[in-house]
Amino acid sequence: VIGVAFLTEPALFNIESALQSLGIEYEVTGDNARAICPMHEALTGKSDSHPSWFIHLETGQHHCFSCGYRGGILGLVADIKNFKIDTWGVIDPDYEAAKRWLRSTGTEVPIEVLKNKLFKKTDAKEEVKVEESHLAIFTDPPNWALKQRNISARAVVAYGVLWENKHDNWILPLRKPYIGKLLGYQMKGQRSRFFRNYPAGLKKSSTLFGVHELREDYAIVVESPLDCLRIYDSGFPGAVATCGALVSEEQVKLLRSVEKVIVAFDNPNIDAAGKKACDEMLAYSLRYDLNVYYFNYGTSDKKDPGDMTDEEIRWGIENAKSVIQGKAAYVYGNVKALSN
Ligand SMILES: [Zn+2]
Repeated sequence: VIGVAFLTEPALFNIESALQSLGIEYEVTGDNARAICPMHEALTGKSDSHPSWFIHLETGQHHCFSCGYRGGILGLVADIKNFKIDTWGVIDPDYEAAKRWLRSTGTEVPIEVLKNKLFKKTDAKEEVKVEESHLAIFTDPPNWALKQRNISARAVVAYGVLWENKHDNWILPLRKPYIGKLLGYQMKGQRSRFFRNYPAGLKKSSTLFGVHELREDYAIVVESPLDCLRIYDSGFPGAVATCGALVSEEQVKLLRSVEKVIVAFDNPNIDAAGKKACDEMLAYSLRYDLNVYYFNYGTSDKKDPGDMTDEEIRWGIENAKSVIQGKAAYVYGNVKALSN
């Protein structure tokens, strides 16, 4: 039972018997089979030196972590068996031929078995582990979603952000500092307010989103992962996110080696939680001798950098105010109302 299996429907075919029919030697690890990448040589000119390719045994979604080859079971069969279809000069994989071939090898899963898998009850108390290979069931975010968020494909690649396309959710991976091991991911709706951590007990306070992008000369710290991508696009790589309005001591410790820490929490002039996070950073800056600066929202009524234009973000960073000024570094306007 894995936490993400319900997101995509089970494949219509038994993946293990399909692999056997395709002559692929594999090893089962958890919910996946692992093998030498079957398309590596065709795509890169070299054969896969060690098994880099994973296929999910329930969904049939697969991914090579070396060459990036990925997709579903039908595409895999079409690629390996060279089933192609020519439509007015455009060559595409022939998925129908792949389906027919899979049926001919007797790998189709009876519909009743399929239904049982889809509606099987899972024990909510069971702690589910998220493994790197689980990310293979997700895709790259579609252009329409990038456009709505004003985010570039380059920023998506830098932060390893993915997409769950059944319900249009962003997949925001969280990794362990220094070693990069996947801790889990946050799933955030684009068209809905859906939000969930995988696994449920994900310890987001033990790391920072984008920790692998952390620099030594400066860091920009935001609350929401997608704001890191907006800041990246405004010309400042290396932003990290706390993944919530609370800053943990562990997260602060990760920033100790950074020369200049610019915090861009939600606008402290209109958001009480953002104001509180700024206050906390003020206390941490003293305790850990951090060189903290506060992103300058000026008179803007925008809630966070994610809502701002590139120019506004750049201005806010370039005019960030030092913690030496105390609360005046981040509280503007009606100071009395907010500073107590
Ligand atoms: Zn490969």
